[in-house]
Amino acid sequence: MSQAAGQFDFIIVGAGTAGCLLADRLSEDPANSVCLIEAGPRDNHPFIHLPAGYIKTLFNPAYTWRFETEPSAGSAGRRIATTQGKTLGGSSSINGLVYNRGQAADYDAWAQMGNRGWSYEDVLPFFRRTEKRLGDGDNRFRGRNGGLYVTDLDWHHPLCDAFVKGVMEAGIPFNPDYNGAEQAGVGYYQRVIHKGQRRSSAKSFLRAALKRPNLTLMTNAQVSCVNFADRKAVGVTVQRPDGSEQRLGANREIVVAAGAVNSPRLLQVSGIGPAPVLEALGVKPVRVLEGVGENLRDHWAVRVVARVRGVRTINRMVNGLPLVGQAMRWALGRPNVLSVSPSLAHVFWKSDPVLAVPDLQMTFTPASYKEGVAGLLDSFDGMTCGVWQQRPESTGHVRARSRDPRGNPAIQPNYLSHEIDQRAIVSGVRLARRLLETDPLKSYFLGRESPGPDIVTDDEILDFARRKGSTVFHLIGTCRMGPAQDRRAVVDDRLRVHGVDGLRVVDSSIMPTMPSANTMAATYMIAEKGADAVLRGA
Ligand SMILES: Cc1cc2nc3c(=O)[nH]c(=O)nc-3n(C[C@H](O)[C@H](O)[C@H](O)COP(=O)(O)OP(=O)(O)OC[C@H]3O[C@@H](n4cnc5c(N)ncnc54)[C@H](O)[C@@H]3O)c2cc1C
Repeated sequence: MSQAAGQFDFIIVGAGTAGCLLADRLSEDPANSVCLIEAGPRDNHPFIHLPAGYIKTLFNPAYTWRFETEPSAGSAGRRIATTQGKTLGGSSSINGLVYNRGQAADYDAWAQMGNRGWSYEDVLPFFRRTEKRLGDGDNRFRGRNGGLYVTDLDWHHPLCDAFVKGVMEAGIPFNPDYNGAEQAGVGYYQRVIHKGQRRSSAKSFLRAALKRPNLTLMTNAQVSCVNFADRKAVGVTVQRPDGSEQRLGANREIVVAAGAVNSPRLLQVSGIGPAPVLEALGVKPVRVLEGVGENLRDHWAVRVVARVRGVRTINRMVNGLPLVGQAMRWALGRPNVLSVSPSLAHVFWKSDPVLAVPDLQMTFTPASYKEGVAGLLDSFDGMTCGVWQQRPESTGHVRARSRDPRGNPAIQPNYLSHEIDQRAIVSGVRLARRLLETDPLKSYFLGRESPGPDIVTDDEILDFARRKGSTVFHLIGTCRMGPAQDRRAVVDDRLRVHGVDGLRVVDSSIMPTMPSANTMAATYMIAEKGADAVLRGA
């Protein structure tokens, strides 16, 4: 820790999904001194590492940022709990474990927006570099030698198999690898689970790197601002839980990897942001950048639930004696319910047949949660098909409310504010209902639970989506990448913050638009590409 008192070549803010990978890559060369700073504690809690522990850690204040959104019409006036990971591994230590890259067209669109080097062909090697795929897959697309284990489901439930069969009978083809040539179709999710354990970014990339003497890790240390000399970022101020402060210096660069809420917040309190936001904070501008905190996007999901009979769902497997049995299977390394991701099967399909590529993602699980509540299972047997519009057009913002690092920023995603998103979700709920009522599921299906049978018209479904939908925690876009002439761009295509020196943002916040996917895989790719740019000095 001797270096922590002083000066490093690189300072990385946030030991999350992107930050842990960055720390590994930047410290590979022993000549680089690297300091990785994490606001949260070490990832010591056993539920972080047990895949099913997700349900317990999701809102544990010791390991999460307990954010909530501002009310909006799209959430029927509700504030939505918007948790993010706050521990080593960041959100990869508390997330739903699904590995999903999206579609080639997503990245081609980023390139088309003026971001050189971000077409699918350009980013594919970086996806592959991160990945250690176990199981089938075309090696043109899949990586075999990276640090991140990506495995197939090894625990099967009769409802999942009947669901997949029914979807195929409905005309949607089986897809053995949605991370390969084509996303469309139905199949089983690939997960970042290996030998019954979550493979977070901390486990996959940081743990081994910490043996290097040139990498310093600080935990329980929140960066409260980036310090500048003129327009060059030269260091950071770190605040400890007891309020004490420490200043650290960076000889070469500061890389902000604090996630889609905290990265823009940190830039704003450090003097980089829209003029009205800086003014309201009473912060002297270092560089006025209109886009900092804007372009917030997230996936708004609606759960379609049916009651079932003649089969034991997860609802009844995780209590009492059945739970003991599953725990024993886990200990023996046998397939078990504690080692699965919350969603087991997927469908990628179109809300309208005229579309070229799927705009809907649907998740299936042989379980059901209490209506509108995250993490609380129903007392009856149920199955759930969740659905969201993959590439939401609705955008919002993150704005720091004060310079106090403990104060939560205003988060307004404006869910379902765009008509395209409204149409897609209504169509998605209709499709989800249909897919829960196919012939192979008929012997299990007991009745519609939520939305109930009284919800029929488009208006009623949209109203239900607003009242009962929720986030799936895929916040992105608040430090959007784009060329300097794009006045809402925050970083360039090398992820350098426009108009200042020595500062990059490398995390989920740089995504200009939402990929057709859960956002972890793309975040790893961004970190891999960002590390490459830093090391090249580009
Ligand atoms: C509950 C949940 C479920 C999800 N499920 C999935 C899924 O199944 N599949 C998928 O692909 N995606 C999923 N996601 C999304 C995905 O995990 C995130 O998009 C991705 O991990 C974001 O990575 P990041 O590096 O941008 O931020 P994070 O991983 O959140 O890392 C940011 C880190 O920075 C730290 N930090 C923040 N501010 C400061 C500061 N000022 N000083 C020091 N440290 C700071 C934070 O504590 C955190 O550790 C989920 C997310 C959540 C929260």
